[in-house]
Amino acid sequence: MKYRNLCGEKVSVLGFGAMRLPTKGDESKNIDKKKSEEMLDYALKHGVNYIDTAYPYHGGESENFVGEYLKKKNLRKDIFLATKLPMWKVKEKGDADKIFKEQLEKLKTNYFDFYLLHALGKKSWKKVEEFEILQFCEEQIKAGKIKHFGFSFHDKYAIFKKIIDEYDKWEFCQIQYNYMDVDMQAGRKGLDYAADKGLDVIVMEPLRGGQLCKEPPSEIKNLWQKFPRELSYPDAALQWVWNHKEVQLVLSGMSTLQHVKENIISAEKAKIGSLTAKELKIFAEIRKEFLSRRPFGCTSCKYCEPCPEDVAISRILGFYENYKIYDDLERNQKFYNNFIKAENKADNCVECGKCEEKCPQGINIMKWLEKAHNKLYKKSLEK
Ligand code: SF4
Ligand code: SF4
Repeated sequence: MKYRNLCGEKVSVLGFGAMRLPTKGDESKNIDKKKSEEMLDYALKHGVNYIDTAYPYHGGESENFVGEYLKKKNLRKDIFLATKLPMWKVKEKGDADKIFKEQLEKLKTNYFDFYLLHALGKKSWKKVEEFEILQFCEEQIKAGKIKHFGFSFHDKYAIFKKIIDEYDKWEFCQIQYNYMDVDMQAGRKGLDYAADKGLDVIVMEPLRGGQLCKEPPSEIKNLWQKFPRELSYPDAALQWVWNHKEVQLVLSGMSTLQHVKENIISAEKAKIGSLTAKELKIFAEIRKEFLSRRPFGCTSCKYCEPCPEDVAISRILGFYENYKIYDDLERNQKFYNNFIKAENKADNCVECGKCEEKCPQGINIMKWLEKAHNKLYKKSLEK
């Protein structure tokens, strides 16, 4: 295993993300403990020393499972444990304290090595201020219950910058980053900005939830054939991330023992600057080719929002474009039905046309929303 320095700790370049553990049946809460334990046993035996969980993973059961596992194997002191405060659950002062205590209990520990404010964005950052969450976390740091403090992020670069600029005690951040998402969310600009400001960076979704592991369409396969080395699709995607000197840790949410084994082989090769200029150029060509499959090219600028009927326009269009780009209907149906509430779905559109007037890309939003709903809506998946 290779290690990098994350907030002064010697952390394996590959972290174990406990958000896609194997389950018994379709129910996310029903973690297959035997298989999951085998995966963790293998990962830890091969040098992985970082486990990342969070309050909502597996309907709350991920934290329970990880806590039980570490206790049973007496491994708490041997690994770095990370979990996150679900900001969307914080509705009043005092909620953070309740959740934090519950997390300590579930994870059967009295401290977290890495504690993150989960999925910060424009709205949740306001709540952080309103409910004095930073002060609360500083108290936990003083009490030794949080060793390192940071945030994970899923919004636009400008918000990312604001969050970094408005608090000078962040030690690290966690961003979605892969060879397709250089201009999405925090993106390359965010990675550079965080590093410039002295924050260490953890990367999540290096394989875009598995989308970069799949057999790609033939045009993209042709580009891969120009790649000078034989790398599997996931290996190539991971090496692309580890190639960055600004990245300290890459998290992968593994679902089978085979995934763990393959990712560990990849991690053993992880190296800053390992990719040649020619190889990087091929990645850029692949990105361009993937993006050319977008049906309308929404930039997620959100100028079309808010919609008077509360339709979640940019997120819905994003799911639809991802379905087309990666030919991945299942994942995007799941996202549309699980993450977009009924009152924000596309069928609430009354075709007032206000969004289209504001879209700088001239997208026929009403038409695409209708198409998106028809393709992605599946009653049986709705939560
Ligand atoms: S056209 Fe539909 S989505 Fe657009 S602003 Fe009007 S109601 Fe909202
Ligand atoms: S304004 Fe246009 S490009 Fe921007 S998020 Fe809305 S649909 Fe996408």
